[in-house]
Amino acid sequence: MFDVAIIGAGPAGTAAAFDLLIQGRKVLILDKYEFPRKKACAGGITPKGYHLFRYDISPIVKRKCRIIKIKPLNKKPFFVTDDRTLCYMTRREELDFFSLKKVISIGADFRVIKKIQSIGETPFSVDIYTDSGCFRASYLIGADGANSVVRRCVSTVRFYEKQLAIEADVRVGRPDMYQMEFDFSRLRNCYYWLFPKDDHVNIGIYSLAANARPQVQRLIDFAESRLLTSRLEAIKGYPICTGGFKYRPDSKRILLAGDAAGLAERLLGEGIFFAVKSGQQAAQSILESEHAAVSARDLYLEKLKPIQTDLKAYDLSSKWFYRFPRVSLKALSFPFIRNRFVNGYADGKTLTQILMTKGLNES
Ligand SMILES: Cc1cc2nc3c(=O)[nH]c(=O)nc-3n(C[C@H](O)[C@H](O)[C@H](O)COP(=O)(O)OP(=O)(O)OC[C@H]3O[C@@H](n4cnc5c(N)ncnc54)[C@H](O)[C@@H]3O)c2cc1C
Repeated sequence: MFDVAIIGAGPAGTAAAFDLLIQGRKVLILDKYEFPRKKACAGGITPKGYHLFRYDISPIVKRKCRIIKIKPLNKKPFFVTDDRTLCYMTRREELDFFSLKKVISIGADFRVIKKIQSIGETPFSVDIYTDSGCFRASYLIGADGANSVVRRCVSTVRFYEKQLAIEADVRVGRPDMYQMEFDFSRLRNCYYWLFPKDDHVNIGIYSLAANARPQVQRLIDFAESRLLTSRLEAIKGYPICTGGFKYRPDSKRILLAGDAAGLAERLLGEGIFFAVKSGQQAAQSILESEHAAVSARDLYLEKLKPIQTDLKAYDLSSKWFYRFPRVSLKALSFPFIRNRFVNGYADGKTLTQILMTKGLNES
């Protein structure tokens, strides 16, 4: 019997595993793939996410971006810059493999399963029935991403939404010639990105609208116009799960974290920070419940409040932003507003902290 079973070895799962293992708990991690495995993700990590990792991930950082180019519709692009890093570029397969090796090195039991058949809960344990047998643990953390099977097995209400994103790598002669870029000029309710890495650039489309689904042809057109090539490698699309500000765990022993709980933000689709944070909070809730009269579920709900408030703010911002993109981007071109966001991001603040912190000129 394990203390905690975790399904999913992405950022949420390994972050939870790390915190449990360093406190001496017996942890099982199940994933449907051998690692390293491909994962649809641009691998951009904001400063607040980067500093949340309990171990140094600098060995897998491909580039530190201090300049971001923003392209509004029918307007000249503008740049946001800072002396500090605004985004750390990684490759997701490397980040996840790095984190998985880290937790295995401190005692995690990692197994590959092809299928979860069902999940049963008793007052004292959780049973996970899979094609490779049954695993029993005191708690289960469902960290199996946007299409979570754990969520399907345990959740009684649909609290989440899914946005779509598609991405590909493009080999270019001089990736260092490109800046990190968000292009809002091409399609309503979408943005295109260009993330420069060490030996290639990653491009992609994030879409809020079902009628503007990110299509491969659109990505090829973008590559042709921006990078003068249509040779895309490793094209991948996957949902990003948002709406997690409404998540309430149904069970006392089964907690969802990361995209499984809808904990990505809706404005730009950032999810790594929220996955790591919620994974750590799920682990801390289980540990603290051992010495408290309160259940892990109630502790987790309490701990999740700040990120759920943040995700609600992102949700409202995204509704405003994609409805009035010109006005919103115009606002960003005013130095007072832009500096507030850029400084806040570079300082590693959350959206709520940026919005609530008094500006220099405010009393
Ligand atoms: C195209 C794209 C680009 C993105 N770019 C960024 C970005 O630049 N920055 C950012 O912050 N966020 C980005 N995101 C969002 C980010 O990828 C997710 O929010 C983040 O990966 C969520 O982490 P997680 O640990 O919750 O889930 P995941 O990273 O999805 O990990 C889930 C794990 O569970 C495993 N799994 C799934 N189903 C099962 C099953 N049935 N049984 C066993 N194991 C299972 C999977 O193999 C996987 O290893 C992007 C998303 C997409 C789709």
